[in-house]
Amino acid sequence: MKLDANSLRYMSKEEYRTLQALELGQRNHEIVPVPLIDGIAKLRHGGVVNALRGLMRQKLVHHDNQKYDGYRLTSLGYDFLALKALVNRGAVSAVGRQIGVGKESDVFEVLDTKGEAQAVKLHRLGRTSFRAVKAKRDYLQHRTSFSWLYLSRLAAAKEYAFMKALHENGFPVPRPLEHNRHAVLMSLIDATPLCQVQALQDVGRVYNQTMVLLTSLAKRGLVHCDFNEFNILVDEACNITLIDFPQMVSTAHVNAEELFDRDAESVRRFFGSKLGYVSPADPPGFKATLASANQADALDIKLSASGFKQGDQDALDVYMKPQQVHCTSTPSASSSASSVSDSIDEDEGRSLTTGHVGSAQVCDNNPDSPAIGAVVAGPAA
Ligand code: ADP
Ligand code: MG
Repeated sequence: MKLDANSLRYMSKEEYRTLQALELGQRNHEIVPVPLIDGIAKLRHGGVVNALRGLMRQKLVHHDNQKYDGYRLTSLGYDFLALKALVNRGAVSAVGRQIGVGKESDVFEVLDTKGEAQAVKLHRLGRTSFRAVKAKRDYLQHRTSFSWLYLSRLAAAKEYAFMKALHENGFPVPRPLEHNRHAVLMSLIDATPLCQVQALQDVGRVYNQTMVLLTSLAKRGLVHCDFNEFNILVDEACNITLIDFPQMVSTAHVNAEELFDRDAESVRRFFGSKLGYVSPADPPGFKATLASANQADALDIKLSASGFKQGDQDALDVYMKPQQVHCTSTPSASSSASSVSDSIDEDEGRSLTTGHVGSAQVCDNNPDSPAIGAVVAGPAA
């Protein structure tokens, strides 16, 4: 993916309104017919056609005329809408280099309006798991391409809710700042994923911190489920930070013990094989960990009452664990052209004040990579 500075900086009001109208139209159309986009955007005669032409040039929309003349957002178009909303909220002023390519995300450095570097994670569900993609497609039937955007949005909402609860409760996770659509804005962690570390000054201390973190989460009712060297960052002082929360489950989950043991085992195996460290202590046990937990501290219960609802979780589960989950609810897609037409957010139409968007690069996580200031050329206005 390549973020283009010019599209963020120079998009016309008409193009932006057309992009928003297309997004709304995709709630119940995979390919949105031009008259529907026109009806939602309500631009002067011919405005939408010209705007769509401009959006096509910027690769923010895709034209499809197999069945009828229509358009859909590209992932770049969706990125644009999320980033622009963050800019309009005053949370982001410029987008810089790409710092991470995860299994199902792209992570970029951004600048906030004070000029401080933060991180934005753009979720991209369906990027890697073809089996899951197939299962999901069977389940969602006609709701195909927008469903990917929809699921990415759910993953971001879940990640934000969990990161917020964990951060508020003193866990070593990035500070959540904002989220919009499939994007989560969080503090930038100056640390390296464990998988890229060749040796650690105090490997025993890092191992212990990691296992204490795993058990502390379980005592608060949570299993990370992807607790491994890719999602544990370690800094120069050998302190760890945990990232990547969309797959977390409650300790009440039917497979929680198995998932907890798998997390513990993957850490133990990594420390043994890559760092040559074998702990004298046994890995923590799930039942013993829960036996010492206080129910009143349970975060899983608080989270289930948060903004991230069970129906959203069900939809995500079908994607993440197609073989285990019996889903009872489908995502709601009940908006008509007339009802959505009023909901284009005029606030999102304020002009952008971003600097340049640096060209995206594949993550090398190299500590010698240039700082964001070197990549983001223009100052925020
Ligand atoms: P995925 O779900 O795709 O695995 P992750 O959340 O694990 O995504 O992020 C992918 C990579 O991006 C990480 O391995 C890490 O290198 C980088 N990254 C993610 N969040 C941050 C952050 N807050 N600060 C610094 N780097 C980050
Ligand atoms: Mg990850």
